[in-house]
Amino acid sequence: MTWSVDVLHYATGLVPGAQVRWLTGFDQWQVFHFNAFLLRQDGQNVLVDCGIDDLDVFNTVLRSTLGERGLLHPAGPGVSIRSLLAERGLEPRDIDVVALTHLHIDHVANAQMFRNATFLMSRVGYERHADLERRLPEMVPEAVFPSGAIGFLREKPGRLELVDDGPTALAGISAKHVGGHTADCTAFIVDGDIGKVIFPSDTAWTALNIAERHPPGSVVNVAECYEAFRWLNATKGIVLPPHDAQLSDLLSRKADEPRTNEEV
Ligand SMILES: [Zn+2]
Repeated sequence: MTWSVDVLHYATGLVPGAQVRWLTGFDQWQVFHFNAFLLRQDGQNVLVDCGIDDLDVFNTVLRSTLGERGLLHPAGPGVSIRSLLAERGLEPRDIDVVALTHLHIDHVANAQMFRNATFLMSRVGYERHADLERRLPEMVPEAVFPSGAIGFLREKPGRLELVDDGPTALAGISAKHVGGHTADCTAFIVDGDIGKVIFPSDTAWTALNIAERHPPGSVVNVAECYEAFRWLNATKGIVLPPHDAQLSDLLSRKADEPRTNEEV
C-alpha cells in the first residue's frame, strides 16, 4: 500500500534572497510558496504540517521585519488549508494524523483546527526545542513559535506522539531528525504512489538549497544543513521542499513519468 501525495499550496509571498540562501542574494527577492501536504491511503488522512489560515497573525510579524513587500497572500481568492481540504471532500475532523516537520508558525499554527488528530514529532527534535525554551528562550520567540498551537499539542496526553528516527506507527512513513533550520526540523519519508517521497522540512526551503548545497539564511546549525543535503542528494526519491514555488509542477511531472524500479 502506498500513500497518495497532494500539495496544499495555501499562500505565496516574497522573501529576501539572503533568507532563502545563506549570506547570498541580498539585493534579490524570491517567490516563496507556503505548502502543507495531504497523504491519503485507505480512508486514512495524514497532513505533513498544518499551515496557518489566519495570515494576518503571521503578516504582523512579517511587516515588522520585512515591510509590506514581505507579506503573505492567499494562494488564490479564499484559499486556506480549510478550503483546500474542503475541495478534496475533507473537513478538519477527518484528519487522523499531522506529521510536524517543525514548530514554526507557518507549519503549526492551525493545530487547534485538528482536534481529532494525533501529532507526530521527532523525539530528538522536541527535546532540543524544549531545551532551547529552557536555556535560550530568545531562540524560540513567540512571534514564530506560537504558544497557543504548541500549548494545544501539549495539553492532552497522547495528542503529541514523539517518534524516533525510523519507521513510525503509520505503515510507509518514516521520520528522520535533521535539525539545521531549527533545532526540531524533521524529515518524513513516505512510500508514495509516485515513488519514495521525502519531505525535508525547512532545512531545504527550495530545491535550489539542495542542488547547490546552500543552507537557508534562517538557520540555527549550518553543519546540520550540509549533513541534510548530503543525505538528500544520496537518497533516491522525490524531495518536496515546503516552500518551493515549482512544487506542483514537479509533482505533476512525476505523476506522468513511468517509474523505474530504482525509484520505487
Ligand atoms: Zn516554513
